[in-house]
Amino acid sequence: MLNKHPINVSIVVPLYNEVESLPRLIAAIEASLKPTDLRYEIVCVDDGSRDGTAALLKQLAIERDDLRAVLLRRNYGQTPAMAAGFKVAQGQVIITMDGDLQNDPADIPALYAKLQEGYDLVSGWRKNRQDDALTRLLPSKIANGIISRVTGVKLNDYGCSLKAYRSEIVEDMNLYGELHRFLPALAFIEGAHIIEVPVNHYARQFGQSKYGLGRTFRVVMDLMTVFFMKKFLTKPMHVFGMFGFASMSLGIILGVYLTIVKLVLDQDIGNRPLLTLAMLLFLGGLQLLSFGLISELLMRTYHESQGRPIYRIREVVGGDRSSETSDRTEILS
Ligand code: UDP
Ligand code: MG
Repeated sequence: MLNKHPINVSIVVPLYNEVESLPRLIAAIEASLKPTDLRYEIVCVDDGSRDGTAALLKQLAIERDDLRAVLLRRNYGQTPAMAAGFKVAQGQVIITMDGDLQNDPADIPALYAKLQEGYDLVSGWRKNRQDDALTRLLPSKIANGIISRVTGVKLNDYGCSLKAYRSEIVEDMNLYGELHRFLPALAFIEGAHIIEVPVNHYARQFGQSKYGLGRTFRVVMDLMTVFFMKKFLTKPMHVFGMFGFASMSLGIILGVYLTIVKLVLDQDIGNRPLLTLAMLLFLGGLQLLSFGLISELLMRTYHESQGRPIYRIREVVGGDRSSETSDRTEILS
């Protein structure tokens, strides 16, 4: 176990045009972690910057042995940049933060300590957030409320990049779109124990924010994906099947009623809106049902192609595995 993780903490930082902040950031992380006896590495991911961040990062990584640089070929966005960092990180614990000095590396030891209390994910809460009130704080407050409700993981601050994860949790998750902010929700789907702790937050000193109001829309779309994954990933037929079945049944009932009207009461039904409704309900329901079946197939491909079980084991206690396997070989031979 010790050999597998000689490094205790990996600090993963995505960087896009943060050349002024970078040296200060590295110095601040070092100042925060050197005094502790944690073995750490800094994994900085340059996300296709155009301001010299890449060159500086490369040079720093050659000079220092606590820094590893990952240089992406172009600008992919914060989530892919973080995913690239996760891929390279070797620590038992992975801590993510922004590279613009808005997060405070001095909070890292506290997050690490909290994780050791038995949590799988510790999320930072920018209680005293230093961003524009109207364009950032208000949308963020609304978004956090909605995301908490929909995902079932109540956090005050989903957007805070400063988070600590047990590495197994990160390994289990695939990231797409703007999904990094939903990592707690995704981790929760994987059965993680999650807690939130207040952290410092500062106004941006250098460069400018890469996001505006447009992010809100993308976040809402991603939220729908997460909601679906949480509820129905392993049982899509339950949702599509239910609606499809209800709609089809209603269509059939209306159809039977119209047939009786036509055959028994001998009235015209060709011009009745009810006929159109019955047809729509029946066909719509049929489509939903078929869609549910196709989703079941896709879901099986999704899980089986990646060798993903539909459950996550926290731990298995008792029994000695080595003797178990040798017993079995004896019986077989
Ligand atoms: N970032 C990135 N790729 C991008 C956009 C942003 O790696 O395409 C990084 C950026 O350098 C910073 C972090 O993601 O370290 C957060 O970005 P920003 O500070 O602009 O977001 P805000 O704090 O304004 O929400
Ligand atoms: Mg920022």
